[in-house]
Amino acid sequence: MARYTGAVCRMCRREGAKLFLKGERCYSDKCSVTRRAYAPGQHGQNRKKITEYGIQLREKQKARRYYGVLESQFEGYFDAAERKPGMTGQNLLRILESRLDNVVYRLGLATSRAEARQLVVHGHYTVNGKRVNIPSYQVKEGDVVAVCEKSRGSEKFKAIVETCGSRPVPMWLDMNKETLEAKVVRLPNREDIDLDVQELLIVEYYSK
Ligand code: SF4
Repeated sequence: MARYTGAVCRMCRREGAKLFLKGERCYSDKCSVTRRAYAPGQHGQNRKKITEYGIQLREKQKARRYYGVLESQFEGYFDAAERKPGMTGQNLLRILESRLDNVVYRLGLATSRAEARQLVVHGHYTVNGKRVNIPSYQVKEGDVVAVCEKSRGSEKFKAIVETCGSRPVPMWLDMNKETLEAKVVRLPNREDIDLDVQELLIVEYYSK
């Protein structure tokens, strides 16, 4: 399963936005976007005129990096979003948001999406009582996502729940913090997704 293994804070600085890729550090004053608010690299501080295409590209990259998805998989999601009824951009965000690794992160059962992905691969979560180890698994309305019984009492999960306890859980997920399980009440709408990205620009990018 391919994934990006480079320096993640560079991606935030490149996009000029916090993508929350490093867990606790992202909420502290150690965040690189806060400390060095310019693009990485030797010419990062030079002002550059950005084209319309460049703006669309950056918006696509921002969404892709936020969810930790590689290029080909992102293109696949876009194709699927186009085939669904409704607005392509919103369909795309809904598909990305419904990935199991994202759901686990949203529930506060992992400190970052990268950690969520790793914990999913290691089989720490169940969907409707069955262990699922595929980060891209798409949850559906009515699904119940839970920490598997063996992992529930572990020190690791106690620490995660303590760290993420104050993070708000979105309305489309009904979380029981005692049992560490949650029901997918419905799939998310655009207003449920707090991602600072203009999905229309992504649609324009792929329409060329
Ligand atoms: Fe991005 Fe988090 Fe690194 Fe800040 S600390 S630059 S939000 S990954």
